[in-house]
This record gives sequence, structure tokens and C-alpha cells, in this order.
Amino acid sequence: MAEKNQRTRLDDTVRTEQLKLVFAQAPLAIIISPVAAVTLALGIWQVADHGAAIAWVLVITGMAIFRMGLVVVFKRRRAALTVRAWERLFAYSFILAGLCWGLGGWWLLPEEFAYRAMIFFFLIGMASAAVAVYSVHVWAVTLTILVLVVPATLDFALRDSLPERLMAVAAVLFMIVAYRSLRITSHFVQRSYSLSYELQEAKEHAETLARTDFLTGMNNRRSFYDLCETPFRVARRHGQDLAVILFDIDRFKNINDAHGHAMGDEVIRTLARIVARTGRESDVAGRVGGEEFAILLPHTDARNAHELAERLREQMEQSVVHLGRAEVEFTASFGVAQMDPGCESLEALVAAADGAMYEAKERGKNCVFVATPPTREDAQL
Ligand code: GH3
Ligand code: MG
Ligand code: MG
Repeated sequence: MAEKNQRTRLDDTVRTEQLKLVFAQAPLAIIISPVAAVTLALGIWQVADHGAAIAWVLVITGMAIFRMGLVVVFKRRRAALTVRAWERLFAYSFILAGLCWGLGGWWLLPEEFAYRAMIFFFLIGMASAAVAVYSVHVWAVTLTILVLVVPATLDFALRDSLPERLMAVAAVLFMIVAYRSLRITSHFVQRSYSLSYELQEAKEHAETLARTDFLTGMNNRRSFYDLCETPFRVARRHGQDLAVILFDIDRFKNINDAHGHAMGDEVIRTLARIVARTGRESDVAGRVGGEEFAILLPHTDARNAHELAERLREQMEQSVVHLGRAEVEFTASFGVAQMDPGCESLEALVAAADGAMYEAKERGKNCVFVATPPTREDAQL
């Protein structure tokens, strides 16, 4: 299931990148279409039905305006439609524009060879441009080439004239080469998009692993300190309250010795779940040692941090950890420190909380001790 989701995401990402490429290339190609139509109409003006030529140029211009509108909407409001819906809109409008060119060119074909050859040249030129500009969309471009080139090619092939028949053969050869080139280009573009997406995913995954504690899914020590750096600096600069809680499981060695390492791990996971459901969004929690944890609390003074620590302590004291048939209870000791103006670094703040935690251990464990600023005596709240 996860692999299927991953493949769908990869597919959607590659499709989106292809669409972006196509829509980035489209404006120039769209503008050139009516310009080329006007040039062609002027070229055959002497021999063409004027009304038909003007009508054809107007249809081509209308198509170009519509397609340009699509490009603008895609750039401004891409999220309004799904990737596949955009693909369909792009493909249908593109094929329709090709059809206008192919049928119009065929419809306007005069009797004189030189003019016929000129129209044919324009049609092949438009088809080549489609291959060059939109090559990532194989089926849309293939259909466009067919509707552009086939009507005139059939007309040439059915004439009793060797040069025209040879031109029809050349057109067929062109279509074969264009199709092959389309397939190859599209394959390589897709591959390069897929590879860059997979590389990006792998990089993000590796970064997450490097930041995350494997056992609990919490921030690891490095990530905890990295994430705390900014809130610490902000609080210091603006004189805001900031507190740290540091806590350590009591007599954890005994749990490991009596019930095994797996039970010890389960206790750590249970503790992590308690922390996850108790804190606020802005708090930064991490596993900073084997059975030692820390929480940074922005906009929080010592009293409120003490309250939170007390709540955590109670929940841990009340929880029972099960593993197989065995069950075990556990407690932890908490040290709380509030940042004071003399506190120079995050490490110093955590060290103050560490000292308070040591004091909590000294005072019989399973309690909270608050470090007070150096000017006052330490006191248990
Ligand atoms: P205190 O009450 O003074 O904290 O005593 P303690 O036994 O909890 O303290 P100590 O820090 O000496 O012991 C910590 C033990 O935690 C030692 C180590 O084997 C164990 N430990 C560290 N990381 C893990 C872990 O990931 N899983 C398990 N099961 N045990 C761990
Ligand atoms: Mg311990
Ligand atoms: Mg310890």
C-alpha cells in the first residue's frame, strides 16, 4: 500500500514537472501559430479563396487565444485542477490546434505545385516544432503530427505526379523519425525527473532519520539542540520567558535487569507517548540521553514549567507498561530551569535544569525540583 502511494506520488510529481515544462515552452509556440498562419495566407493569397484563407487564419488565431488563456490559468491557478485534468486540457487543445492546421492546410491546397509545396513545408514545419517543444507528451504530439500531416500527405500521394508522391513518401519518413525521436526524448526526460524525485525523497528520508530517535520517534539529542537554538535566541533578544524541563527515569537499570532490555525499551516508548500528548505545539521535546529527556518551553516561566513537569510526573507514576505477561511501573525525576538575563547559552540553561534534576534525584526521586536564579537560594516548589 505504502509502495503504491509512493509510486502514485512519483507519477504525479513527474507528470506535474512535465506539465510545467510544456506550459513554460507553450507561449512562444502559441504566438508563432497565428503568425505562421498569416504568413502562409499571404504566401498563397494570389491563388487562394480569400474568404477561406481569412476564415482559417481567424480560427487559428481563436485557438491560439484559447490556448494562451489556458497557459495563464495554469500559471495562476494550477491547483484548481488535477494534473491529469490539465494534461487532458493541454492535449485536446493541442490536438485541436493541429487539426485546424492540418485540415485547413489541406482545404487551402491550390492546384499549382509551388504553392502546394509551400503549404506542405509549413505543415511539416509546424509538426517539427511540436516535436521539439512538446516532446514529453508522446501521444498528444503523435496525434497532432498525424492530424497535421496526414490529410495533405494523402492528397499528395493520390496525385498522378511523381514529385508529389515523393513528397508524400518524405512526409511518411518524417513521421516515422519524429515518432521515434519523441519516444526516446520522452523516455529520458521522464527518467531524469524520476531520478531527481527519488534522490530528493531519499535525501529527506536520510535527514529525518538523522534527526529522529529510532526508538521513540522523538527528536534526538542533536536535533533537540538544533531546534532549540532559534527559540532560545528569540526569547533572549526579546526578554521573553523560556524554561527547560530535564527528566530521567528512576532506577531504570533495575527495570532492565529485572524484566529485560525489551521491557526497558517499552518503558521509554510509553514515556515518549506521555510527553507527546501532554505538550504544546510550540514545545520542543527530545531524547537527549539513554533514558534522559528534555523539553524546551517557549513563553513559559518556572511556575508553569513546574506545573507541566508535575503533570508529566503524575502520568508516568500512574502508567503501567505491559510486555507479554509482564507489567512494570516507573517514575522519573524532573529538573526545571527558567532562563534568566545572565544565562548566556542554551547549554547553560540545560545545565541548570540538569543540576535541578540531580537535586530531585538526591531528594528521593519521583519529584520535580526547580533551579532558581543564582541570586536566590534553590528551592523546591
Ligand atoms: P537513577 O534513578 O539514578 O537514574 O538510576 P538509573 O538506573 O536509572 O540510572 P543510570 O543512568 O545509571 O542507568 C541508565 C540505564 O539506562 C543504563 C542503560 O543500560 C540503560 N539504557 C540506556 N539507553 C537504553 C535504551 O535505549 N533501552 C534500554 N532498555 N535501556 C537503556
Ligand atoms: Mg535513570
Ligand atoms: Mg540517566
